[in-house]
Amino acid sequence: MLRISNIKLPLDHTDSDLRMAIVSKLAIKNSELLEYRIYKRSYDARQKKNIFFIYTLDVDTSKNSQLLEQFADDAQIKVRPDDSYRFVTQAPEVLIERPIVIGMGPCGLFAGLILAQMGFKPIILERGKEVRERTVDTFGLWRKRKLNTESNVQFGEGGAGTFSDGKLYTQIKDPQHHGRKVLEEFVAAGAPEEILYLSKPHIGTFKLVTMVEKMRHTIESLGGEILFEQRVDDVLIENQRVQGVILASGETLLSQHIVFAIGHSARDTFKMLFAKGVYVEAKPFSIGFRIEHPQSLIDQCRFGDYAGNELLGAADYKLVHHCKNGRSVYSFCMCPGGTVVAATSAEGHLVTNGMSQYSRNERNANSAIVVGIDPENDYPGYPLAGLDLQDRLEKQAFVLGGESYDAPAQLVGDFLGNKPSHELGSVEPSYKPGVKLGDLSNSLPDYAIAAIREAIPAFDKKIRGFAMHDAVLTALETRTSSPIRLKRDRESLQSINTRGLYPAGEGAGYAGGILSAAVDGIKIAEALALDMVSNQVSK
Ligand code: FAD
Repeated sequence: MLRISNIKLPLDHTDSDLRMAIVSKLAIKNSELLEYRIYKRSYDARQKKNIFFIYTLDVDTSKNSQLLEQFADDAQIKVRPDDSYRFVTQAPEVLIERPIVIGMGPCGLFAGLILAQMGFKPIILERGKEVRERTVDTFGLWRKRKLNTESNVQFGEGGAGTFSDGKLYTQIKDPQHHGRKVLEEFVAAGAPEEILYLSKPHIGTFKLVTMVEKMRHTIESLGGEILFEQRVDDVLIENQRVQGVILASGETLLSQHIVFAIGHSARDTFKMLFAKGVYVEAKPFSIGFRIEHPQSLIDQCRFGDYAGNELLGAADYKLVHHCKNGRSVYSFCMCPGGTVVAATSAEGHLVTNGMSQYSRNERNANSAIVVGIDPENDYPGYPLAGLDLQDRLEKQAFVLGGESYDAPAQLVGDFLGNKPSHELGSVEPSYKPGVKLGDLSNSLPDYAIAAIREAIPAFDKKIRGFAMHDAVLTALETRTSSPIRLKRDRESLQSINTRGLYPAGEGAGYAGGILSAAVDGIKIAEALALDMVSNQVSK
């Protein structure tokens, strides 16, 4: 098969236009084109009057070899690379031990799935509940201000990304096409097939819930075991080799191969690992607010007359501004047509995030507007200082919001004018249970407030209306990524000072987002499986 890139067509083209574009690009007869499949479709909206699709296509013709020779110098016509997934090994018939995976977010889910598919019958331990029960608990905070600290937006089957926009793209390098395996497994579990070819696929929250459930059944059918409401409270380490874990129930599970895919919010588990001597270092992360605008404003600004076009869907944006004080402010986890959600897992803390449904048809667009911070300048001292900073800011935001899980909020115009807000304008905030209007200028360190005040008007130059008076800022965003890294060895992917302990995913500082966490889970499963097989052979 051939892979042809950079085929451009208008939004309203037909299938036959696409076919003819291939025929014309390859200078072949229509009858010589046997088959084609869309590999990727993106759009170019740089010129609002002329928005078009760009295709990469996998194409079969009756004269592939001849065409490859003929177009040898054309970078847009190549052999289709083989991106099919191959297992690196298979489990021996008799397993001396079973691997343990802690956490069932995208990373733990994929580590568990791949291990199960290779025959290793993993045991997955998840502190939260199975996804349906977890959904009820999560809505308990949003609707009744009742937080379950073990079952919420961060903790439970599916991990942090379950109640999300379900954006499935990443900028990580992926030479082994693991991302493709993730997307194919998601499709097998019920995701729409378009995620395989759209350049910025998303699935929305409801679909994710059903998919996660299906993937659990697959793991179980392959001999894996998934234990919910089983928090790991301790780890057994002897001679710098992991030996097992102790659960909150007091039960001990032994294994010399344990994946820690615990996400960025398991502060208790981070502290436990640090106390046990597992190597931890501080890493940069970001803090800021969520901002909400009418989605129609973003659509109009990005798509002009094409705003509302069904094929384009709700428009997104990505913004960066480098400030005079040396800070960078950027938009993060933008959720077109979505809602701002309460995302704390700790009592008396206030954290926001964003989510949407597949349709992305809520009236507001939201995204995090965050400032990058780093350990050297902003939380020096010891490896867990970033956790302390998050903790302090989140508690302060809870107090500012009235200690009821309402989020402190301010209109953009008032924030820029440095005066408290008393009344909402045309933008109705979506955060539930509710917002408390006031003054956000003390909710973040001064350098962060100054940076965001400078960045919003700069963003307005790129998206006209971004600094609109009535847009709403909701505090706080503190969990953009993990404040620590559980450093691992590049080759074996094990902790640099604790053999058999595999730090994985976002919490360990090796992923950011659903797709990259899932890809990391696959890489970890492969490294662990190879190590188990070689250990078993040498025993
Ligand atoms: P997590 O998903 O955090 O999973 C870790 C799991 O470990 C949790 O289920 C937790 O309960 C469990 N755990 C922790 N400690 C223990 C313990 N001691 N014992 C047992 N279990 C434990 N990313 C995107 O790419 N696209 C999006 O649209 C998107 N939207 C988001 C929206 C929201 C509201 C949130 C909160 C996040 C969003 N993200 C999004 C980020 C994404 O969810 C994370 O990057 C991803 O989930 C990280 O995966 P992970 O498996 O590494 O960790």
